[in-house]
Parts: sequence; structure tokens; C-alpha cells
Amino acid sequence: MSDADAGLLSAIAAVRRRLQQAADRGHRDPSAVTLVAVTKTVEVSRMAQAIAFGLTDIGENRVQEAVAKRAELGSPARWHLIGHLQTNKARQAAITFDAVHSIDSSRVAIALDRHRPPSAEALEVLIEVELTGIPGRSGVVAAGLRELVAAVAELGRLRLTGLMTVAPPAPHPEAARPYFRRLRELRDELMPELGRLSMGMSDDFEVAVEEGATLVRVGRAIFGARPPAGRPGEPPTGPGHGHGRRGE
Ligand SMILES: *Cc1c(COP(=O)(O)O)cnc(C)c1O
Repeated sequence: MSDADAGLLSAIAAVRRRLQQAADRGHRDPSAVTLVAVTKTVEVSRMAQAIAFGLTDIGENRVQEAVAKRAELGSPARWHLIGHLQTNKARQAAITFDAVHSIDSSRVAIALDRHRPPSAEALEVLIEVELTGIPGRSGVVAAGLRELVAAVAELGRLRLTGLMTVAPPAPHPEAARPYFRRLRELRDELMPELGRLSMGMSDDFEVAVEEGATLVRVGRAIFGARPPAGRPGEPPTGPGHGHGRRGE
């Protein structure tokens, strides 16, 4: 095995171990938490290797990138859209992904519903909730959530399974806890029992698991730092954020 492959394998094992320990601390069953490996900017060959090492779910934040990669890779894993979705990309998203975490308007939900092919099963969707108050971030604010849940639940080609959030960038993972807790409370209030929770990234997924995450979206801790991107809607990866925890 090449050094790069060995590094990837041990990074995946390290994330799984941390996930398991966090589940133990939260008195949760680790098998109730799906690890979504975030592969934005990661080459297809490394993605294929990661899937060969047992990853079952991959997350992309841009529709175009996922379309190109899926054309090469096919679907040996479930494809999750985790980034903001514009209505004009809904048609492609509806045929490319198995789950969309970033529904934040009825407009985009209706477009996805309209374009989901009849031959495919209903598209799993989660509603993204904006809990930070930071201007310019995507997601529906808590005050609009109940109405959006009701609207999405009516769409027959979508299967609403839960809520997603992105905590604000912070120097310490504990700072994310109130946001994750709030998302869980909203889930308990609006979709008791059923709802999934997509929350937690490389820097804070352990806190998210302690707080009830059922999907964690982890990129850098598996694949290492990404090249600086500066794309809108993407969390910062620059100094202070770009060092993943590979090999820890
Ligand atoms: C990039 C991204 C992630 C993964 O971030 P890492 O810090 O690399 O783990 C998770 N969620 C969303 C919405 C992202 O855009």
C-alpha cells in the first residue's frame, strides 16, 4: 500500500474511533451515526480509495463538481449535497444526489420535487437551519422553520428526514454545542422521533455526536487540508481552520 493510501486508511480509522468515543460519552449507539465523507476538491481516485476503505456516504457542496465526479465514479456510495442549492441547479441536483441536506426555501424544494425522476425513489432531504445570526449565511431561520417543514412534507417526490446546521467558525469545538443543542430541540419540537440531524464537521463532530447528530459531515479530518478556495458559502479553510486532524 502506498504511503498516501496508508495515511488515508489511518485517518479514516482515527475519525471512526473519535466518533465511537463521542457516542460513548453521549450514551448513544455509534451505528446510529452516519459518517459522510466530504470530498469537495478531493480527486476521484482518492475518493474511490476511500470508498474501498469502507466509506459509504460522500458529501459534495457543489452540484457541478458532483455531476462530473459521479459520471466517473458511479454510485458505489450514497451522494449527499451539503452546500447551498440554487433553484437553477435543482434539475441536475435531483438526478445526481441521493440526499440533499441544504433545503432552505419552498422554492428550491418544489423545484427538486418537480425534477426528481419518476424511476428513482423519493429524494431524501433535510432542511438547513441558520442559527448563528451571521449575515449572509444560508439556511432558514428558526422562525420560518415550521412553515417550511409543512411545505416540504407535502411534496411527494421528496422524503423529509430531518434538519441540518453549520455552527459558526470558532476557536474551540465547545463553542458549537449550543447550536447543535438548539437544532436537536427544534427537531424534537417539529419532527419528534423521526428526524435526522446533520451536524458536525472536522473541528466539532465529536460535540455534535454527543448532542445527537445522526449524520456528521467530515472532510479535512479524513482527506487533509483543502487548497484555499474562497468560494461563497464555504466555511473558511485558511490559517486557523486549514489544519485537519489527520493521523491524530
Ligand atoms: C466543507 C463542508 C464540510 C466539511 O468541512 P471539514 O471542516 O472539512 O470537515 C461540512 N459541511 C459543509 C456544509 C461543508 O461545506
